[in-house]
Amino acid sequence: MGLDRAAQCLPAATRTSRWDPGAVRRDFPALQQEVRDAPLAYLDNAATTQKPQAVIESIARYYRKDNANVHRAVHLLSARATAAYEGARAKVAQFLNARSAAEIVFLRGTTEAINLVANGLGLQAEEEVVLTHMEHHANIVPWQLQQARSGATLRVLPISPRGELELEALQGLLNARTRLVTVSHVSNVLGTVNPIRALVNIAHERGIPVLVDGAQAVPHLEVDLQALDCDFYCLSGHKLFGPTGIGVLYGKAERLGVLPPYQGGGEMIRRVSFEGTKFADPPQRFEAGTPHIAGAVGLGAAIDYLQGLGRAAAAEHEQDLLRYAAERLREVPGLRVIGESPDKVAVVSFVMEGVHAHDIGTVLDHKGVAVRAGHHCAMPLMDFYGVPATVRASFAFYNTREEVDRLVEGLHLAREMLA
Ligand code: PMP
Repeated sequence: MGLDRAAQCLPAATRTSRWDPGAVRRDFPALQQEVRDAPLAYLDNAATTQKPQAVIESIARYYRKDNANVHRAVHLLSARATAAYEGARAKVAQFLNARSAAEIVFLRGTTEAINLVANGLGLQAEEEVVLTHMEHHANIVPWQLQQARSGATLRVLPISPRGELELEALQGLLNARTRLVTVSHVSNVLGTVNPIRALVNIAHERGIPVLVDGAQAVPHLEVDLQALDCDFYCLSGHKLFGPTGIGVLYGKAERLGVLPPYQGGGEMIRRVSFEGTKFADPPQRFEAGTPHIAGAVGLGAAIDYLQGLGRAAAAEHEQDLLRYAAERLREVPGLRVIGESPDKVAVVSFVMEGVHAHDIGTVLDHKGVAVRAGHHCAMPLMDFYGVPATVRASFAFYNTREEVDRLVEGLHLAREMLA
């Protein structure tokens, strides 16, 4: 009997658990520890993910053997460091199905990537940018800074109570003055997966470019940038099982080609004289100064690790956790889940009647269950739901049903203690 036939004979729960989180967890040293006298149940993956040993080791190996500055020197270590750094760029391009590695800019993270584009657009007073009601502050505040500088207008695409974009309202927000539409691929609070391709089609019909904040998408979904056809896409390495301090701005070659530099300095020039400077082409134009070489190496290792895992099976396991969590959370009296799109990644936000989110977070922490409680850098979304804060459990492929059980037990306890 082949493996698939054998699996079909198993009960549903066992079938989905052909994915073995126990084996995967062994790759993550931080998951091996006890906290508060209990095994760590790390359910805060939307804030940052844990790192596999392969990532940690790649960074240590880089510093032990290859450490040198990139691009400048003729010696061997510099050549190795440059190959490692540019190799990581090529891996990112392949991972996202970009047309070329020149479309991949290494930056600190999603926040810096959005700021770069917001600064570079050179918005004028009569122009407009469309964003959505479910954006992270990282995709709101940079636009407000440009609004304050230029007098440009920001327009907000509304969302439904289920936490989905009101896409049919988009047409009415676009006009000849719209410079850009900007949207998160996946909401960090609701887990909603937004219909990017449909949104891009609407904007492109009018020749308007689209920026996608992919910070919460790439850890869960296989992203194909040529299929999405967006003009810019941003991500953070630390949410993708890679290091902090490294992230990516993807831009179509023709879009990056007309963006001015964001910062000036070494590495981003072709020729400098006191009469003036000729800038390098993208991506170097946007990478002034010594880059985070070790970070790029670590991000490349994270991509290798993910591709070796089998992403489809990982995603299926996460969806199983999401369904199981949704079912079990229904048992907790007074609990309201926020974000009920049928198209969701494994992120669950909720509030409990009469109990503040922070207090729930503290009770859970005492049981070794790490969740996030707060506004999740999405205050306009909190206002939309009329809550000051939510508790958010966010899962990765290394989480287990048993951890969901511990979350639910902790919630019952919080209710008994605090409601
Ligand atoms: N956008 C979204 C949707 C996010 O969830 C986050 C991180 N919470 C960011 C942007 C900002 O990412 P970073 O802090 O890594 O720049």
